[in-house]
Amino acid sequence: MAVRRVVLLARPGAGKSTQGRLLAGQLGVAYVATGALLRDEVASGSSLGGHIASVLAHGDLVADEVVVAILARELEQAVATGGYVLDGFPRDLAQAAAFEEHFPSAVQPQVAVLLDVPADECRQRLLARASSEGRSDDTPETIDRRLALFDEDLMPVIERYEQRGILVRVDGAAERRVVAEQILAGLGIS
Ligand code: AMP
Repeated sequence: MAVRRVVLLARPGAGKSTQGRLLAGQLGVAYVATGALLRDEVASGSSLGGHIASVLAHGDLVADEVVVAILARELEQAVATGGYVLDGFPRDLAQAAAFEEHFPSAVQPQVAVLLDVPADECRQRLLARASSEGRSDDTPETIDRRLALFDEDLMPVIERYEQRGILVRVDGAAERRVVAEQILAGLGIS
């Protein structure tokens, strides 16, 4: 069975968006990132966007119903046109459960790829990105908060996908090209 629906799990700063875009291009499917979708909503100037802006500024997570609603239209469209590589969802067990509850099985992920990068390396990369890109949620305080949330919230999701036998672990600290090759190998594509 060809892989067409992939979730990427990793600490912030582990290179999810770089590898996600590459992988989506290789699979010929849509790259869907919840962080970018939320920032688009902020940029649209809607009242929902105004609320999301203050959540992002604190480095907190946006409410599940909001993320699921924004994601639903994107994922359905992505699946209709071939599939997706999803970056940023699910972030915790409640979101993993919401995925199973609110989306049909034809939209559920077939594989979860864990890009494994140590927290210290992620912190360095995020601080470097903060000075080059100036993203408002890349301050030292929000970076530490987002990394702490990962350990608390995403670990149980990783365990859940591992128990289901759909987890592929990749050393994300390697060079970009090597990481991309390892992901493809893990999906049985190389
Ligand atoms: P990212 O671009 O993935 O680093 O996400 C940036 C911010 O968007 C996060 O710090 C959260 O505030 C918010 N966010 C992204 N994905 C989710 C999600 N699945 N659930 C809740 N909040 C999210």
